[in-house]
Amino acid sequence: MKRFLQWVGSLLCALLVVAAYAQNPQLFDTGAASTPDAQAVPAAAATSTSAIQMIDFNRNLVPAELDDDYRTTYEIFVSSFCDSDGDGTGDLNGIRSKLDYISELGFDQIWLTPVHPSATYHKYDVDDYCAIDPSFGTMGDYEALLADCHGRGIRVLLDLVLNHTSDTHPWFVAASDYLRTLPADKDPVFEECPYVWYYTFSREQYDGFVPLEGTSWYYEARFWSEMPDLNLGNDVVRNEVRDIVRFWLDKGVDGFRLDAVTSYVTEDTAANAEFLRYLADTCRSIDPDCYLVGEAWTDQSSISALYGSGIDSLFEFPFAGPDGVISQVMSGRAPASDYVRAMMGAEAAYAGANPAYVGAPFYTNHDTARSASYYPQDGGPVTKMAYALSLLMPGDSFVYYGEELGMEGSGKDENKRAPMYWSSDAGAEGMCSGPAGIDGPQHKFASLEDQRSDDLSLWRWFAEVIRVRRAFPAIARGKTEMVEGLSDADVAAFFRRSASDGDVLVVMNLRDHAAERDLSQAAGGFELSAVLGTSEERITYENGRLSLPAYSIAVLTQNQSFID
Ligand code: CA
Repeated sequence: MKRFLQWVGSLLCALLVVAAYAQNPQLFDTGAASTPDAQAVPAAAATSTSAIQMIDFNRNLVPAELDDDYRTTYEIFVSSFCDSDGDGTGDLNGIRSKLDYISELGFDQIWLTPVHPSATYHKYDVDDYCAIDPSFGTMGDYEALLADCHGRGIRVLLDLVLNHTSDTHPWFVAASDYLRTLPADKDPVFEECPYVWYYTFSREQYDGFVPLEGTSWYYEARFWSEMPDLNLGNDVVRNEVRDIVRFWLDKGVDGFRLDAVTSYVTEDTAANAEFLRYLADTCRSIDPDCYLVGEAWTDQSSISALYGSGIDSLFEFPFAGPDGVISQVMSGRAPASDYVRAMMGAEAAYAGANPAYVGAPFYTNHDTARSASYYPQDGGPVTKMAYALSLLMPGDSFVYYGEELGMEGSGKDENKRAPMYWSSDAGAEGMCSGPAGIDGPQHKFASLEDQRSDDLSLWRWFAEVIRVRRAFPAIARGKTEMVEGLSDADVAAFFRRSASDGDVLVVMNLRDHAAERDLSQAAGGFELSAVLGTSEERITYENGRLSLPAYSIAVLTQNQSFID
C-alpha cells in the first residue's frame, strides 16, 4: 500500500511537472524561486520535440528532494565567476545574481573559494577569518547570499584554510614584532606574546622553515614564505578555530570545505586525523548537521586513514585529474571495467574506516587543468562521458564552475581560473577580467549564450546528467556492484544498490563504437528509465537486449510490478 501511495504521489508529481513545463520549457528549475521569464515563453514550445532522445525521454524526471548530505555541488572561484559592479572582479552579489543559473543546472550546494580579506586574488592566505574581502562585498552581502541560497534549497560551504595564515595576519605580525624586539639570548614568554605559539618558530632552520627577517629565528612555511603554517596542535590555536567555526555556523553556513588537510601536520597522517576529529567534534557540538569535506590530495590508503577521524567527506583524488581513474578509462589507457572496480575498492576502503562516510567525487578543481584539455582531439563526447563518470559516482558530487561549458585552462594556476564564459563578448554583463597574468584563454567550446540553444551542447549534457543523478536517489546513495558479465574494455555495467531507494542498473558505453548487451539474465524486472546520449542515435531496450550507441549511458530501474 505504501508503495502504491508513493507511486500515486510520483504520478501526481509528474503531472504537475508536465504542467509546470508547459509554462516554462527551460530546464526544470529545482529551486523554490519563481521563474520570471515564464510568461514570455510561448506555450507551443512545450510540445516541441528534440532530435536528441534524452531531451524527450528524461523530460519528466524530477529531483528527489532529500535533505541530506548527498548533494550536487558547484565550486565557484569567486573572483572569476560573476562581476556585479563592473570592476572586473567577481563578487558575492554576482553569485547571487546567478542562483537561477545554478539551480537550473540542478546544483543544490555551492562551495565558494575563500571569501576572507587577503591580498591575493585566490585568497588562500587569510588576513581575517571572520570578515569578507571588500573586493567581494560586505558581510551583509554574504548574509543575503546565504538567505537567497537557503530559500532555494541550496546549501553553502565556506572554504576554511586552517593550515596557514597570511604573513600579514595580525597573529603573525604580533608574533614577528615580538621576536624582533626580543633579546637574542632570551626565550619568548607566553604571557608576553601568546601569538608566538600560534605558529612554529625555531632557532634552527628545519626543512620547510624560512628565516624571519630581522631576527635569528625561522618559521614553518611549507607552501610559501608568505603563508606561515599554524600550530594546530596547540590549544590556543584550537580555541581560535572553535570561535571561527562558531562565527560562521551561527551565520547559517552549512559546512566547510577544509583546505590542505594532509598538510596540517606535515607527513603525519595520524596527527592530521586527530585534528580532523577535533574539528568534526567541535563543529557538530555547535551544529549537529554541519557538513565537512576535506582536501586530501593523496592516495586511497591515506584517504582511508583520514576517514577514521569521522569526517563526513574527503575528495576522491584518485579518480580526478588528467591521470586519475576516469581519465585513464576514458583515454583507453584502462578498460571500462576498471572504473567500476575502482569505485568498489574505494567504497569498501572508506566505509571500513567510517561507515557513515559520504564520498566526494570530483573530476577537476581550481588546482587541476580543466578537463577539456585532457582530450585535445575530442569534439565533445569524451569530455561529456568523463564528466558523467564523475557525476554518477556515489556521494556528494562536485563540479568546478565552467566545466559545464568545457572551458579551457591548463599550465599555470591563473589559467585554471579563467573568467566564467557567460558570453563571447568580454564586455558582456557579469564578465570578469580574470587573474592578472592569465594566458588567453582560447576556448574550444562555445560560450553559455551559444550552448543554451544547442541540444547537443556540453551544458545541456551536464543538466541532463545531473537531472538523472538527482531523479534516482540510489545513484548518489547506493553501493556499487559490478555486473561482471556485461562489463569489459568498452562497457561499464553496475548496480547501485540502496535498501531505502531501490536498485539502479547503469550501463555505460565508453567507446566510439556501438555496443549491444543481453540483459535478460542480469536485469529481470528492470526497465529503461533514463538515457544519456551524445549524438542523435537512440538507445533501445527491447526483449532484454540493450543497444548503446557510441558514448552513451542507459539507466534502468526495477519496474513497479516487480517491486510489488
Ligand atoms: Ca566586482
